[in-house]
Amino acid sequence: MDLSEFWWRPLIVLLVLGVGASGVGLYGGLIAGLAVAIAGLSIYLGYHIYYMSVLTNWLMKGDISPVPVASGAWDEIFYALERLIRLHKRSNSKLFAVLDRFEHAAQAIPDGIVMLNEADQIDWFNPAACRHFGLDDKSDRGQFIGYLIRQSAFHDYLGGDDYRWPFVMKSPCSRDMTLSVQMVPFGDKQKMLISRDVTQFEMVEAMRRDFVANVSHELRTPLTVVGGFLETFLDMRNILPEDLYKYCDLMQQQTERMRRLVEDLLALSRLESPQNRLVEKRIDMPDLIQTLYQDALSLSAGRHPIYLVSDSEDDLLGNADELVSGLGNLVSNAVRYTPPGKAITLAWAWREQELCFSVQDRGDGIEAHHIPRLTERFYRVDRGRSRETGGTGLGLAIAKHVLTRHQGRLVIESKVGQGSCFSACFPVSRVIRK
Ligand code: ADP
Repeated sequence: MDLSEFWWRPLIVLLVLGVGASGVGLYGGLIAGLAVAIAGLSIYLGYHIYYMSVLTNWLMKGDISPVPVASGAWDEIFYALERLIRLHKRSNSKLFAVLDRFEHAAQAIPDGIVMLNEADQIDWFNPAACRHFGLDDKSDRGQFIGYLIRQSAFHDYLGGDDYRWPFVMKSPCSRDMTLSVQMVPFGDKQKMLISRDVTQFEMVEAMRRDFVANVSHELRTPLTVVGGFLETFLDMRNILPEDLYKYCDLMQQQTERMRRLVEDLLALSRLESPQNRLVEKRIDMPDLIQTLYQDALSLSAGRHPIYLVSDSEDDLLGNADELVSGLGNLVSNAVRYTPPGKAITLAWAWREQELCFSVQDRGDGIEAHHIPRLTERFYRVDRGRSRETGGTGLGLAIAKHVLTRHQGRLVIESKVGQGSCFSACFPVSRVIRK
C-alpha cells in the first residue's frame, strides 16, 4: 500500500466533514454548523477508537490468530498486518526447515558435539556426545561441563585458553574408550566441545610402539654378542690377515651404528610410553649446561671454537637424564654438521617469557623447506653426511619429545650460508628462580 494513499483518506473525510459543516453553518446558522462538525468528528473518532480497541485486543492475545476484518482506513492497516504475518510465517518455516536439517545432520555425525554457553554450561549436545561423556538428555542440560567430566587434565584444558590442539583423554563413562577432544570458541564467548572416539587409532599406535620397543629390545642382545666377538677379533690384529682385519673393523663400525640406532629407538619408545610418567625434580641448569659444554669440547676435539654464554642462573623442574639426552642431541648435531674452524655458541638465557637453551652454529645452514620436517623420525637433509658422522636420524625427534614432556618447544632458525640456531625453550611454569 502506498503511504500517501493511506493519509489521503482521513484528509478527504475531514475535508468532506468541513465542507458539510460549513454548508450547514451557511444555511442553518453557526450553532447548527458546529453541531454537525462535532457530531461528524465524534462519529469519526468513535470509528477509530473502536478499531484501535479491536487491534489492541488482537495484539494482547499474543498468538498469531486471524487478523480482524475492518472497513475504511483500518482495512488497509489490517491488510498490511496480515501480509507481514504471512511473510513472517514463511521465513519462520524456512528457518525451522534449516534448523531441522542441521539437527538431523548433527544427530547423524559420529563426532560428539556439546554447545556451551559463556559460563561453560551445556546448552545442547548430540547423541554421540551422550555416548562419549555419558550425558543425560533430561538432567544434564544447563549443567556446568566441569561437574560432569571430573578429570583434572580436562579441567586444565577447559580453564586454559589455548585450544589450538586437541586433547586426548579417557571417556568418563568407559576406561576402554579414548577420546580426542577439542574446544572451538565461537559467537559471543560460546564454545563447542568436539569429541572423537580414537580408541582404534590409540590401539594401533600402542601396537606400533610396543612392536618397535620389543624389536629394539630383542636386537640388543645379539648386537652385544656380535660386537663382543668382533672386538676380540680386532684385538688379534697381529695374527689376523690384513683383509680380514679390515672386514672386521667395518663390521664393528656397522654394529656400533646399529647399537646406537637401537638405543635411540628404545629411548624414543620410553619417551612415548603413556606409562612412563615424568619423574621431576629441581635440576641445577648452570651445572647441566656446563656438562653439555664439556661434551661439546670433547666431541669437537679442538676442531671448532666453542663458547658458552650463561645469562641466567635459573634452574628447571624436570628430568635431568631426559634433558641431558634431548639437549645433548642439539649440541652433538652442531658439532657434527659445522665445518671445522666455524664457531659454535651455547647459551642459557631468557627470551621474552621463556627460558631457552640455544645452540648457535656458523655452519652451512638449512634450507627453509626442510625446517618443519627436521623433527620427523629419520628425516635428514643430507643422508650421507648424517651417516658419515654417526647420526641415527632420531636425535631431533628425541629432543622434541623430551621438550614436549616438559611443556617446552623446539625453535629452529636457520639461514643458508650463515648457520643455524636450535633453541629448547621452557615456559615460566618450569623455571625455578635462583
Ligand atoms: P641425525 O642423526 O641425522 O643428525 P637428527 O634428528 O639429529 O638426525 O637431525 C635431523 C637432520 O637435521 C640431520 O640429518 C641434519 O640434516 C639436520 N640438522 C640437525 N642439526 C643441524 C645443524 N646444526 N646444522 C645443519 N643441519 C642440521
